[in-house]
Formats: sequence, C-alpha cells, structure tokens
Amino acid sequence: MSTETMVQQFPLFINGKWTPVESGETFDIINPATSEVSAKVSKASEKEVELAVQNARSTFESGVWSNKTPEERAQVLMQFSKKIIEHAQEIVYLEAISSGGTLRKLAGADIQQLVLCLQQTVKQALEYKYVETLPVVTALGPSRNQLIREPLGVVAAITPWNFPLVLAMWKIAPALMMGNSIIVKPASNTPLGTLKLAELAVEAGLPPGVFNVITGPGSTVGEALVTHKEVDKVAFTGSTEVGRSIMKQASGTVKKVTLELGGKAPAIVLPDADLEVTIPGILFGVFFHSGQVCESGTRLLVHDSIYEEVIAKLAEMTKKIKVGNPMDLATGMGPVVSKQQMDTILSYIESGISEGARLVCGGKRAAGPGLDQGYYIEPTIFADVQNDMKIAQEEIFGPVLSVIRYSTEEEAIRIANDTIYGLSAGIWSRDVVKANKLAAKIKAGTIWINDWHMFRMDAPFGGYKQSGVGRELGRNALDEYTEVKHVHTALTNENDQRAGLKLIF
Ligand code: NAD
Repeated sequence: MSTETMVQQFPLFINGKWTPVESGETFDIINPATSEVSAKVSKASEKEVELAVQNARSTFESGVWSNKTPEERAQVLMQFSKKIIEHAQEIVYLEAISSGGTLRKLAGADIQQLVLCLQQTVKQALEYKYVETLPVVTALGPSRNQLIREPLGVVAAITPWNFPLVLAMWKIAPALMMGNSIIVKPASNTPLGTLKLAELAVEAGLPPGVFNVITGPGSTVGEALVTHKEVDKVAFTGSTEVGRSIMKQASGTVKKVTLELGGKAPAIVLPDADLEVTIPGILFGVFFHSGQVCESGTRLLVHDSIYEEVIAKLAEMTKKIKVGNPMDLATGMGPVVSKQQMDTILSYIESGISEGARLVCGGKRAAGPGLDQGYYIEPTIFADVQNDMKIAQEEIFGPVLSVIRYSTEEEAIRIANDTIYGLSAGIWSRDVVKANKLAAKIKAGTIWINDWHMFRMDAPFGGYKQSGVGRELGRNALDEYTEVKHVHTALTNENDQRAGLKLIF
C-alpha cells in the first residue's frame, strides 16, 4: 500500500452524517512532528456553509433539541462524555498527528478537560435559573414579571489550532446544553478531532443537524458564517487581528459575539519568591505546549535583587526539558504546529537579537535524532528585554520567554499593564497577602499566584482589553448562549389599577 492510500480522508459532518463537498476539493493535514501528510480533509465552499446553516436552522426551529428539557439534554451530553472516554485513544491520535501536541498533554490533560467541561456544564445547567420571577413593584400595578432564558438559535464556533478540541468544547458544551444548534469551523491545520467529536455526539443521541462541522479556510468559510443572516452568534477563539475583523463582519447583522483572543501575560517575581517553586513554575508557564498557549506567561518581570540568579536558574532548568517527538512519553516539548508558525517564531527571535535583548539560551531550530523533518524550536530565553521591544509587545505564540528587570512594585505593575492584552497574569511570592493586593492592580481576566495554566471548568475565562469580549466556562458561559426575555403579565382586569392608562386617558 502506498503512503498516499493510507492517508485517511475526512468529509464534512453536516446533519448527522459525513458529507462530501460538491467540488471534491481537499486540503492536506500535515503532521508537525514529521512534515508528512497525515490526512486529507474536504475543503468547503460557501455552498456547504449554506447547507450547514440551513440544516442547523431547521433543526433548531423543529424543536427536536431546542424544546427538550434540561434533564433530557443533560442525559445526551453525559452520554457524549462517555463516548469521548471510550474513544480517547483515537481522539488523542488525531490531535497528535495534526496539532503536534504531546501525548503527555493530550492524554494527561486535554481528554480530562473535554469530559470535565461537559460534566460541569451539565451540572451548572441543571442548577441554572431558566425562569426567574422578579420581586413585586407596586408602581406597575398588580403584575408578575418573569425573566425567561431561551436558546439563541444557530451558533457558529470558529476555533484555533493550539487546543483544537478543548477550545471547541468550551463552546460546544454550553451551546448544546442551552438548546442551540452549532456549526464548528476548526482551524485548517487541526480539524480532525473536532470532526470525530461531532460523530460521537450523534452516536450519543444528539439529533442530526444540531452539531455540524465544516472545514476550510477562515477567509472564505469563516467569513461566510460570520456574515450569514441565519447565524445568531459567533463564538471565536483566535488571534486579536482576526478577532477585530470578525467583530466588524458580525456587525452587519448585529450578531452576538464572544471573542477569546491573544495574550502577552506578565509573570511578576517578587524578591521573596521561593525559587524552588518559582523556577519550574515559570518554565511550565511559558514552555508548556511549546509556548502555543494564549495565556502563557511570556513576559517575566524579575526584581533587581534576584535578577541574575533567576536568569541563571531558569537557563539551567530549561536544559531538563526534553524536546522531541510528541508521541514519546519522555517528551516535554513537541514541535510547533506548522512551518509557517516556526518561521514566524524564528523571525521574532531574530528581532529580539537585533533590538538588543540578551539571548540566554535556545534561539534556533532544535536539532537531534528524529527532529530534522519536524518543526521543533529550542526553548528560548531572552534577558535584558525592554517592555517596548517587539518581543515584549507582540504575541509570539512559541517557546520564547522575555525577561524584564524592575526595581519597585509600582514599576512592576506599570510594566505588567503596559500591553494591549489582558488575558492572564501571575505573581510569584511567599507573601500571598501581598500577592493578592498586587493581583487587584493587574488588568487581566485570570491571575495565578504561585501557579500557572490552572483551569477550573466552573471559573470564567476571558480577557480584559484587547484579549477579548465575554467569558467562557462557568455560569457566565450559559448566559452567553441564551437570550433573556422579560414577560410582564398584568394580574388585574380593573383598568384603574393599570399604571399606564392614566398617562393618556
Ligand atoms: P487565527 O486567528 O489565525 O485563526 C483562528 C480561526 O479563525 C481559524 O479557524 C481560522 O481559520 C479562522 N479565521 C481566519 N481568518 C478568518 C476570517 N477572516 N473570518 C473568519 N474566520 C477566520 O488564530 P490561530 O493562529 O488559529 O490561533 C492562535 C491565536 O489564537 C493566538 O493569537 C492565540 O492567542 C489565540 N488563542 C486565544 C485563546 C483564548 O482563549 N483567548 C485560546 C487559544 C488561542
């Protein structure tokens, strides 16, 4: 069998079944660990967007899912979570051959997050106030006032390549649980796992047409979804640049949008930090998943008094991170997602050198047995970075840490907030009272104290400033996937008791 024939082909998933595209066009999925073609995926056009939207809309209007009770929906979603566990191995494989995520990350964190996200969303949705009766206001006359939560309709979810499944699930779980239909457009590098999820959801009992996946370029398929008049909401995770464009495009039909965008998180090391905890914590905060995490701690602000000591210890400990094939359990850092991403990261490293930052370690493609064909980059640390340098202001989305010196807490806070982003931040200190006081001064949606990358499925996640609009996860996410309707019922037949009539009679 030739390699070509072994490559799995993936059509679209529309209305509960695998759906080929009319043009027959496909695009290649490249394994970042080897640069080989690992799968072929259908390239949708606007025609298929139309088909997916019409199916999602008619399914929504039919009430087959939108009229189900929360308990009935919960049963299907719990079944869906079981299917994910049963198919975990295949899901991990599909993610690995497209995203380059390590086995340790995919099997050790992502699968659990998918299951926990579904289970936690179900739990919160069962406690959710779908109908709330407001306290009586006598000025309105005898009446009852209720707030009723209803599904929005058709949701388009547009997702990035770094955590393809986890970030899709943050949208799929609340959208489905609240009764919406959803169309997911995954990033072109990483659609395989999301396609599999849609198939598993239908096997779990989700009616056809409720969860659809279409694959293809953001510039055509994504735009067609964002501007479609039958799409009620766009839930987007990706770069701030594309987020801005989505916000503009969505304005034509005044769609609801939630945007989870970029970050350039500051990690502040106070002079009293316990370096035994802080050094590995900083490295996990920035090098996990080869730095391709929106909330990574990429700007490290270190106090004068411990500056050189921290840099030396970081460089020493970085040597312990094994860069290698993601399928090897010994690997701590796999490849970056694509050649394009690798080139972008390398050009940022060049820019750091030319702007005068001091390269402490890394700085080039990683070499070694089995690495030559993949997109591997050495974990890279720059010291003596000024906060106005490009490497401190722009999101690199790769394994590059910028270390900045500060001498007072006021200066640290000023530098921490001197960014267009506000997704996350961190503080390393033995004094948690002081750390909490500083946390209050940082403009960011999530703050970690003596930790990093810790998510709870019941705590909202999202950005201040240009890191986003709205929140995912937790109870806030359920609100984001509903409309609220106020129903006022007059509870009298006596006209002289109606507050409004005397205004004109
Ligand atoms: P990207 O913005 O390039 O693409 C994201 C998605 O948008 C993809 O599916 C892409 O096909 C689609 N897209 C591109 N152009 C479009 C257009 N004109 N209209 C509609 N859709 C379009 O982002 P990426 O490179 O896939 O992911 C990396 C970025 O995502 C980083 O900036 C990172 O910070 C961000 N991110 C943010 C979060 C968060 O929660 N805040 C999480 C992960 C990643």
